[in-house]
Amino acid sequence: MKVRMVKIDKSKYKILLVEDDFINGKIVKTLLEKATYRVEWVKNGKEALEVLIPHSTEYNLILMDIQMPIINGYEVSINLREIGINVPIICMTANAFCDEKGKSKEAGMNDYISKPVTKASLFEMVEKYL
Ligand SMILES: [Mg+2]
Repeated sequence: MKVRMVKIDKSKYKILLVEDDFINGKIVKTLLEKATYRVEWVKNGKEALEVLIPHSTEYNLILMDIQMPIINGYEVSINLREIGINVPIICMTANAFCDEKGKSKEAGMNDYISKPVTKASLFEMVEKYL
């Protein structure tokens, strides 16, 4: 029996990274781009809404920090879900021992990665939703 391996073209997927911390953002963006995903990085919740409200259909996945100036990750998610934007949202937060998982679900987010984000946890989540 011949097994044909199908190589998934990751460059067809566009991910919006919403992260105010330069180091975390740089690490996540670099890892994803090395795997050939297309990544756009915005630095706060306000910018995320400005990009997503008119262009949500261009994005396959959102990676969202929680603690950000101006508009935090919960508020962005609640706003997106209220207006019917259903792009999967994975939240990234350092508060591993708080009730972040419950709160993120309540805000309409699909899943959760603890910070510091590891390569394994990042790709496990990304591949689950793409
Ligand atoms: Mg932050």
